[in-house]
Amino acid sequence: MREVDIAIVGGGPAGLMAADAAATNGASVLLLERDGHLGGQLVKQTHKFFGSEKQYASVRGVKIATILEEKLQGMSDLVEIWTDATALGLYEDGVLTVEKGKEFVKIKPKRIIVATGASEKFLTFVNNDLPGIYGAGAVQTLMNVNGVRPGQRVLMVGAGNIGLIVSYQLLQAGVEVAAIIDAAPTIGGYLVHASKIRRAGVPIITSHTVTRAYGKEAVEGATIVALDEKWQPLPGTEQELDVDVICISVGLSPLAELLWQAGCEMRYVPQLGGHVPVRDHHLKTTVDEVYIAGDLTGIEEASSAMVEGRLAGLAAASSLGFKSDSLEADILDCKEQLKSLRSGPVGDHINQGMAQVMLDK
Ligand SMILES: Cc1cc2nc3c(=O)[nH]c(=O)nc-3n(C[C@H](O)[C@H](O)[C@H](O)COP(=O)(O)OP(=O)(O)OC[C@H]3O[C@@H](n4cnc5c(N)ncnc54)[C@H](O)[C@@H]3O)c2cc1C
Repeated sequence: MREVDIAIVGGGPAGLMAADAAATNGASVLLLERDGHLGGQLVKQTHKFFGSEKQYASVRGVKIATILEEKLQGMSDLVEIWTDATALGLYEDGVLTVEKGKEFVKIKPKRIIVATGASEKFLTFVNNDLPGIYGAGAVQTLMNVNGVRPGQRVLMVGAGNIGLIVSYQLLQAGVEVAAIIDAAPTIGGYLVHASKIRRAGVPIITSHTVTRAYGKEAVEGATIVALDEKWQPLPGTEQELDVDVICISVGLSPLAELLWQAGCEMRYVPQLGGHVPVRDHHLKTTVDEVYIAGDLTGIEEASSAMVEGRLAGLAAASSLGFKSDSLEADILDCKEQLKSLRSGPVGDHINQGMAQVMLDK
């Protein structure tokens, strides 16, 4: 059985920051990532980030991934990185099973930080399995990682930040965006993104949903319909749009299977995207050895995922007795950064969710 101070599951922004913080304080770290590369969602984000300098504002997401990975490469005495390594099980005795290439490996870490991110939500409508219907993450991967356009004319479903940003990236790639629709009566994403899209001539139609895709072997069009104030379809308002791609961007759900299996207490919190773990202010779950960070704790942004990763890394290392002189100040700094990231109207929503899962209120 392989032993290590801290195993981290997930090599996205949260996991990368957790590894850095834990190793900087002297803990040995094994970082597990199921993809063949590190970075998580960041590798497909070619746009410059918002926020403050501490969270790499004005740097492109993909570049942030490289910066964080290079930092870890400079700590190879304490940090071991396994890519193509999927954590399959986390058991009550704290054993983690991992599929690494063709091998199955058991690991007994003293602490585990789970930073597995989130998965995309999907929608039910007629013919939603036709080729040409994608999640927004797949469209981003196709365009920004593989350099492939998904089609010629897209219907974007979802006017949150992801739907707006991916629409803009589609336009930049020379793909027409027929419309962005959203079931909600208002646009969920930042107005700065929505204005850019509107200036490019793309209509953003609220209180509408998609009811049907049509086409023989792949998408040739979509039917959309207006919704009333109870979000019910209004008969007679159907419109047909000629599109060859329907891109679904209707939110993310925390990827928490390992935590259910480990016996962590979970709660359903709509403001955080679904079932999320109960935790203390140091991101420790109700299972003593298990810590959490990033989108898994509740859907936010890469900025908060990075700060949470750092906080979980510091707290897990500290619980094992690894303490640099600046540890207490560093923990306080993380808490202050999270507080500031969660201020304002979007933050209110997140804070309402957090209040439902905090152990130490
Ligand atoms: C289109 C788009 C635009 C965005 N723009 C911004 C922005 O401008 N600013 C911003 O701050 N945020 C932005 N975000 C949000 C940001 O990308 C996420 O909040 C952030 O990536 C979450 O980080 P994470 O580390 O929790 O999860 P992820 O980045 O999803 O990383 C999780 C990692 O865990 C791995 N993993 C999962 N399960 C396992 C397992 N069992 N074993 C091993 N590995 C596993 C995954 O492969 C993945 O690499 C954007 C997101 C999208 C989709």
